[in-house]
Amino acid sequence: MPKRGKWSVEDAEKLYGVKRWGGGYFEIGPNGNLHVTPDAHNEEMRIDFKDVIAEIKEEGIQFPVVLRFHDILRSQVALLNETFVKTIEEAEYQGQYRGVYPVKVNQMREVVEEIVDAGEKFSYGLEAGSKAELLTVLAFNTPPDSLTILNGYKDEEFIRLSLLARKLGRKVVVVIEKFSELIMLVKWSKELDIEPIIGLRSKMTVKGRGKWEGSAGDRAKFGLTITEIINAARYLEEQGLGHCFKLLHFHIGSQLTDIRAVKEAINEGAMIYAELHHMGFKLDYVDVGGGLGIDYDGSKSTNDSSMNYNIEEYVADVVFGMKEVCDLEKVPHPTLVSESGRAITAHHSCVVAEIVGEIRANSAQMDTQKVDGEHVLVTNMRQLIDDIEHKENLQEIFNDASQYKEQAADAFKLRVISLEELAKIETLYWQIMVELQAGIQRQDFIPEDMQELDFNLSSQYLCNFSVFQSAADTWAIDQVLPIVPLSRMNEKPTVNCSLVDITCDSDGKIDKFVLEKGISDVLPMHSLNKDEEYHLGMFLTGAYQDVMGDMHNLFGRLNEVHIFSHDDDPLDFYIEEVVTGSSVDDVLSIMQYHPKSMAREVKKLIDANIASGGMRPREGVKWTDFYEDCLKGYTYLKTS
Ligand SMILES: *Cc1c(COP(=O)(O)O)cnc(C)c1O
Repeated sequence: MPKRGKWSVEDAEKLYGVKRWGGGYFEIGPNGNLHVTPDAHNEEMRIDFKDVIAEIKEEGIQFPVVLRFHDILRSQVALLNETFVKTIEEAEYQGQYRGVYPVKVNQMREVVEEIVDAGEKFSYGLEAGSKAELLTVLAFNTPPDSLTILNGYKDEEFIRLSLLARKLGRKVVVVIEKFSELIMLVKWSKELDIEPIIGLRSKMTVKGRGKWEGSAGDRAKFGLTITEIINAARYLEEQGLGHCFKLLHFHIGSQLTDIRAVKEAINEGAMIYAELHHMGFKLDYVDVGGGLGIDYDGSKSTNDSSMNYNIEEYVADVVFGMKEVCDLEKVPHPTLVSESGRAITAHHSCVVAEIVGEIRANSAQMDTQKVDGEHVLVTNMRQLIDDIEHKENLQEIFNDASQYKEQAADAFKLRVISLEELAKIETLYWQIMVELQAGIQRQDFIPEDMQELDFNLSSQYLCNFSVFQSAADTWAIDQVLPIVPLSRMNEKPTVNCSLVDITCDSDGKIDKFVLEKGISDVLPMHSLNKDEEYHLGMFLTGAYQDVMGDMHNLFGRLNEVHIFSHDDDPLDFYIEEVVTGSSVDDVLSIMQYHPKSMAREVKKLIDANIASGGMRPREGVKWTDFYEDCLKGYTYLKTS
């Protein structure tokens, strides 16, 4: 920790590690505000979050908001494709790269549109995993050379839709997840006389390590065993459709944290491909699935929220790994397909929310002056403060204070001490804890029960957002997301706090933060100034988080602001589009209410109150309008 008072943005960078997790897109500006540098090819381009916030307020858009940086999406699409192209060249690999974006990672229309547009020059395609997603991807006009990959469980409608797309000239690959789908596909393709392109998904023995390792192995939900793959290929041959079997697919899990799993999977997949080739099934494509990770905690490790490799190493392992096996086995290099979703979208969006208050166990204070006839527990507690000053054994003081506090609670229940005395004891207790916290800083060894002092004395900042809507994975699977203040990073943060959201759910909190030394249960933030707004950003929310949130407590979708950089002025930006989030009546309608008739019912009650003389008609009109305005309003706290 630097000395008090001395603090620079370099210290802030060290603490918050923006560059460690930012993927090159975020940095702390000299003015202490967070900046986004959204174009990997143009370092000049930079946008100050403070300016974005000001513009959003000027447009009258309420917080919390989702910010989408479309330039980042485009950069990531280019980065993945260019890395493959470059590596393929270096490796003298004979096949090509034909990546697809799996829309389940973020199905928002504007996101998919931007990816399709940015991917056009790379013949980048789309992947769908359900009927609704299939209907979606078919409506996008992807380049004629690009692939459309269909994963997930399929019914007859799904199969017929895929054949329709074939008829329309799309390179649609139906990936068979289970044998019965193949029988359906063969039946319909004969009936409609349309030749399918068929992929078979292999159940891999290599498991991705981390949270999604169940995607592979014998108990995997998807895919065919080796025996089933051979049977499927032979079945197709019998049906005269052997030549339609073109692609081998595997996917060993999302957020692969360890590069070794990637290497092993490529090796296993390449061997299966080569063997199939020897058996006479000459496939054009090997699809290595998704799994390219994101370093959420910036530790470059095999932590669940990290990864021990970068995109270049990943691509090199795919390309060189495939080449090595193919050359050894003397089979042609297949065209490589990958389905990276997380890596394409995670960086491009973030949630900006405002801190609207502070909750602290020791915030309220009582006058604790000695009074005549006070209970001995109060006197004892006060004595401990003197003991600290005389530097007595801190552990002993901690134990005594904790014991007196417990005794006081019992004494109160037995009506031995008054409510006011209980409050005094509480006040003194927290004063002692603050002193002890300062005291133990100077010690080399901190006893175990006192290690929790930091957390117990930390604040909770109340943040105007819902964990369940905007950071579902932090609650569901302990995902760690980087969170930083968007301003004042040239000031030393003096308040250690965790975050609580505005839902009525005690799970609605975040107490895992990415810091210099690893994951911490508190985040150093700045003390709140009166009349000054304090916004924080929650980053890397563009993959999954953006679209998996729910409406717990009827907090709905966030207002979204789509931001583009100006081409001519690198420091400028414009809000290209605002997508209004859910209003109260939107979320109520989803829950089967009829907001219009609710307003009518409330109006009736108000009218009756007027009729009985409870309020004046003018007042009644105001209340009626107010109720209706609230129904049309945003679901989050209105703060300005
Ligand atoms: C979810 C999924 C993906 C995307 O994985 P990421 O880890 O986000 O890249 C790709 N392919 C399949 C089959 C999937 O289920």
